[in-house]
Amino acid sequence: MGIRTKKVGITGKYATRYGQKLRKQVKAIEILQRVKSICPFCGKKSIRREAAGIWKCRGCRRAIAGGAWEFVTTAATTAKTTINRLKKNLESRKKPEKEREEDEEEEQKQKKGQKDKGEKKEKKGKKENKDKEKPKKEGKTKATKKK
Ligand SMILES: [Zn+2]
Repeated sequence: MGIRTKKVGITGKYATRYGQKLRKQVKAIEILQRVKSICPFCGKKSIRREAAGIWKCRGCRRAIAGGAWEFVTTAATTAKTTINRLKKNLESRKKPEKEREEDEEEEQKQKKGQKDKGEKKEKKGKKENKDKEKPKKEGKTKATKKK
């Protein structure tokens, strides 16, 4: 048997109902929600959608929270990276005051050393200003997190 539906694909089940535009929109989503994903626990390509936001691995039977229609959404990945970045910031802040200051001084020295190699004096001045601004921003994020 060849391809039964040339155009409508999975939405052939709706026959002529609901209008062309809606069927097209639904087609994209219904295909997406049936795509199997790779399990982050066992590595098998056997994660299937159980319900909206619930994904189950048929290999290791674990249930994982994901997007409503796809296992990993772009919004989820950006959120994950932001959380990891903030976590790193927090961990560096947990160090005792003196150690941290020493670390920062060392970092600045290293940065200055790198700049001195190839750049003019004017550029150096600008970049140093940027370095001074950075700690302020980090302080703000820390304050908002505590709330
Ligand atoms: Zn698995």
